[in-house]
Amino acid sequence: MKRDDCIFCKIANGQVPSKTLYEDARFRVILDLGPATKGHALILPKEHADNLFELPDDTAGAAMQLAKKMAKTMWEKLHCDGLNLMQNNGAAAGQTVEHFHLHVIPRYLNDGQDLELVHGEPSQEELEAVRKEIVGSV
Ligand code: 5GP
Ligand code: ZN
Repeated sequence: MKRDDCIFCKIANGQVPSKTLYEDARFRVILDLGPATKGHALILPKEHADNLFELPDDTAGAAMQLAKKMAKTMWEKLHCDGLNLMQNNGAAAGQTVEHFHLHVIPRYLNDGQDLELVHGEPSQEELEAVRKEIVGSV
């Protein structure tokens, strides 16, 4: 399904132009308009899903395979030093466009980007409480 009010549906399906790196029947890979680094790309499924929770399993699998292929291309063509995959779901996680997309972000030594997490220091008991909350009391 495509949504008339969704910019990524329009881009993925070629109704709005983009700097396309790759296209097949299910996906379009484009350069991000506001790149975090040189080569920052977005993998867009052509079928609309708001986010990961709505994405069909087979599309999720295919998106990760495509990410691997794009990562290899970035490595070879841009000679990046590293690469992040990022995928945001919900405003709390930084999602600004409600059409599933997977960021492919080439990284370069001293590229000035800060995607570092702020890490906590929970006790073993606190970790165990979270584990039980997620999986039950197994
Ligand atoms: P999010 O924050 O939702 O994970 O990422 C949305 C990304 O889409 C941002 O990195 C933003 O720069 C990019 N973006 C937003 N609108 C457009 C657009 O119209 N074209 C392209 N190529 N990128 C876009
Ligand atoms: Zn869409």
